[in-house]
Amino acid sequence: MKTIGAHVSAAGGVDQAVSRAVEIGANAFALFTKNQRQWQAKPLEEATIAAFKQVCIEHGFGPGQILPHDSYLINLGHPDAEGLAKSRAAFLDECQRCEQLGLTLLNFHPGSHLKRISESDCLARIAESINETHAATEFVVAVIENTAGQGSNLGFRFEQLAEIIEQVDDKSRVGACIDTCHAFAAGYDLRTAEDAIAMLDAFDQIVGRPFLRGMHLNDAKSEFASRVDRHHSLGKGNIGLEGFAALMRDPRTDDIPLILETIEPEIWPDEIQWLREQSLAI
Ligand SMILES: [Zn+2]
Ligand SMILES: [Zn+2]
Repeated sequence: MKTIGAHVSAAGGVDQAVSRAVEIGANAFALFTKNQRQWQAKPLEEATIAAFKQVCIEHGFGPGQILPHDSYLINLGHPDAEGLAKSRAAFLDECQRCEQLGLTLLNFHPGSHLKRISESDCLARIAESINETHAATEFVVAVIENTAGQGSNLGFRFEQLAEIIEQVDDKSRVGACIDTCHAFAAGYDLRTAEDAIAMLDAFDQIVGRPFLRGMHLNDAKSEFASRVDRHHSLGKGNIGLEGFAALMRDPRTDDIPLILETIEPEIWPDEIQWLREQSLAI
């Protein structure tokens, strides 16, 4: 089954995100479990946790259909000891919030070397950050998102995702999320059906199929291989609809959260419906 949704707002409490997902016809969703632009957050209240679990059950959302995203401030490959410690503490808090909510996946951007350490050193730090977090938590899976490669962000080549995963001790608790806009901006073409399938094939060969735990479906305002991260609505950007239709027909996108982070929330219901139709038009 295809599980499709969008990154919905959690304003008013994480339980509020669920009804927003229902309203747009989603059977998957993403959310922030805290303000994504702040380091500190109040702990989740027991009543909020209970309400979240209750509405998820009511509307049939299991943990495999929910892909929380961590704060943008966190850099698990930070070159400085202080910055790294701060990021690891914040990431642990994010993981613990997920576990309190019964959520098994946590999506994050791998990290940036800030031009102060080598690429391989940065990737090793990210892997060590994941290992440390695993040791301090029970079950949450670290889902590494590919990036556009803007600035000094790593994870724009599938080889970099593989290099991180290789150094993670518990392979059952690490995975990846492919963001189509980021992949396109990083030089993975998606404009034709053949291109889109070739991108998935490359992921399978380099990272490994079982590690694909989610996707972000975004068209790109940015140019192909520009290393610039600018999302667009499906069919309105430089990728176009053909590649998305092909991704929806591919069984590799079954049973993982497929999340829109497109720029016009008003048309999310239409985008979700269109994606669903493509998956049925085999
Ligand atoms: Zn994304
Ligand atoms: Zn992006």
